[in-house]
Amino acid sequence: MNKLNNKVAVITGANSGIGLATAKLYLQEGAKVVVSGRRQEALDEVAKELEGDFITVKADVSIAEDNKRLIQEATNKYGKIDILFLNAGIAPPTPTTDITEEHYNSIFDINVKGPIIATKEALPHINDGGTILFTNSIVHQKGFDGLGIYSASKGALRAYQRVLTSEVKTRGIRVNAIAPGPIDTPIYGKMGLPEDVVEEMGKGFAQQVPLGRFGTSEEIAKSALFLASDDASYINGIELEVDGGLSQI
Ligand code: NAD
Repeated sequence: MNKLNNKVAVITGANSGIGLATAKLYLQEGAKVVVSGRRQEALDEVAKELEGDFITVKADVSIAEDNKRLIQEATNKYGKIDILFLNAGIAPPTPTTDITEEHYNSIFDINVKGPIIATKEALPHINDGGTILFTNSIVHQKGFDGLGIYSASKGALRAYQRVLTSEVKTRGIRVNAIAPGPIDTPIYGKMGLPEDVVEEMGKGFAQQVPLGRFGTSEEIAKSALFLASDDASYINGIELEVDGGLSQI
C-alpha cells in the first residue's frame, strides 16, 4: 500500500478500461489523480466510483489546446506532476484497401499526436525524477490483418519514446511503455464491427496467446503501478509486454 504516496498522476483515457483500472489502483496507493477522458458524462459516472484525492478533466487528446488545458488544470490543482500516463487510444480496424484519410488522421491524432503534445505541455511541470508512461501495444511487433494504421501508430509512439528517453536524461525522468496483448476492455465494442465478428476475433486472439486467455485491465494497471513506482527505479526506456506471452512466440 501507498507506493505512490504524495505523487500526482495525470491519466488520459481514464474513464474506461485500462485507464480507469489504473486510476483506481493509483488512488488506492496514495496518489492524487487527474482523471481525464473525452466525455463529461463518462467522467461523471466514474467519479461516483472513485475514492480518494482526484479531479476529472474533460479533454480530447486529439486537440492540442485540450492537452495544454489538461496539464494546466492538473498543475493549477496539484502544483506538479510526478506521473504522466498517456493511455488514451483507439483501434478501429481497416484493411489497407479501405483506408481513408479521415480514418488515418483520427488514429494518428489520438494515438500519436495526443501523447506527444501532452508530453510537450507537461515536461516543464514534471518533477525531476518523475515518470512518463505510454500505453503502447504489441501490435507493432507482429502482423495482425486490418490493424495497419493502428500498428503504425503504436510503432511511431515507440520510436518517439526512444528519443524522449534520451532528451530527458539530465532530469532523471524515466520514460517507459506498456505493450498489452489482448485485454478485455470496452475497446473491442468501439471498433465499429458487428458483435459476432468481435466475438470471433476475440476467440482467435485468445487461442494465439500462450496463456490461452485475454488479460484484464487490472493486470495492466498493476504493471502501470510497478513502472510508475520506485520499485522500477532503474527501468527506463523499455516497452514492457504484458500479453500472456503472445509477442514471444
Ligand atoms: P477503452 O476503450 O476502454 O479505453 C480507451 C480510452 O481512451 C477511453 O477512456 C476513451 O474515452 C479514450 N479516448 C479515445 N479517444 C480519445 C480522445 N480523442 N481523447 C481523449 N480520450 C480518448 O480501451 P482500453 O483497451 O482500455 O485502451 C487503453 C489503451 O490500451 C489504448 O491506447 C489502446 O490502444 C491500448 N491497448 C489496448 C489493448 C486491448 O486489447 N484492450 C491492447 C493493446 C493496447
